[in-house]
Amino acid sequence: MTATAHAPHKPSWDCLACGRPWPCDPAREALAADMDFVRLACFMWDALEEAVRDLPPTPATELFQRFLTWIL
Ligand SMILES: [Zn+2]
Repeated sequence: MTATAHAPHKPSWDCLACGRPWPCDPAREALAADMDFVRLACFMWDALEEAVRDLPPTPATELFQRFLTWIL
């Protein structure tokens, strides 16, 4: 992953740059530009697993939309 200001602050998983829930739009753009689809899917799956451990209980559908649905 290239250095980008729009990175997740842990354990809140809000963006360091804009404070929105990560991945924010600029982060999504940077990630999608940086990786092919398979790599991006693996990366976001790993991020989701990590976020599940950090975040308070959150409905799975919400997490899927936030971390994975946007890449499709
Ligand atoms: Zn951001």
